[in-house]
Amino acid sequence: MGDKPETLITDGVRLDGRKPKDMRALKIVAGFLENADGSCYLECGSTKVVAAVYGPRQVHPRHATLFDRALVRCKYDMAAFSTDGNRKRPGPDRRSREISKVSSEALSSVVFTEAYPRTAIDVFIEIIQADASTRVNGLTAASVALADAGIPMRDMLVALSFGKIYGTQDGKPAEVVAVDMDKPEDNWGLADVALAYMPNLERFVLCQMDGRLTHDEFRDGLEMIKKPAQELYKLQKEALRKKYKG
Ligand code: ADP
Repeated sequence: MGDKPETLITDGVRLDGRKPKDMRALKIVAGFLENADGSCYLECGSTKVVAAVYGPRQVHPRHATLFDRALVRCKYDMAAFSTDGNRKRPGPDRRSREISKVSSEALSSVVFTEAYPRTAIDVFIEIIQADASTRVNGLTAASVALADAGIPMRDMLVALSFGKIYGTQDGKPAEVVAVDMDKPEDNWGLADVALAYMPNLERFVLCQMDGRLTHDEFRDGLEMIKKPAQELYKLQKEALRKKYKG
């Protein structure tokens, strides 16, 4: 990563030309892999993710079995080639373990786990190119992969980030709330929030924050993600329809 930029937003325009409420370009493909029960490929700008689902299937190791519901296990991994430079070593680290845990919990709350007692539903999230907001894009892709695998869910999961970035407005210093953090914004920004929520039930299942926001800024962010979240949900449905209708 280069040096800290003087500004991340100038008169309402971010470094990559987006306005505060703009997401990066999105692409979602359902059924991307042949060898999984369900899968999805997702691009959000240059963050690129593959999600794959196996199950419901037998639980290994056996002692992990839950007798009244399915065990939803998510494994998040950033490929060794997903970042520039060589900071990322292959294999699990503390960060990917944490993301796997919170993602497992978020996905468990959307799946009707009680329909498949004594089984495992395994979700793999592989970040093949990382340009920030990977955990949220991983969850959006995982929810398409679960639907593609035919696993009954209460709702889809739509996940996205927002944050606060510094810059200038009319030549004066300004702090601005914006959606979908990219790498410079995540690195140098003042705060970032990862959210996952069910678009129809309007229930949040993940909220993580780095940095500081006032109540008002947090509320502005929640308001700001509403429209892009609907757009993401629409793309998820289109991807699934495309796969099943051809
Ligand atoms: P998220 O990807 O969900 O925003 P973080 O805020 O932890 O999660 O990470 C922000 C970004 O920092 C990642 O998307 C990735 O681009 C970069 N990053 C994280 N960990 C590493 C690492 N070990 N090596 C190189 N880049 C990393």
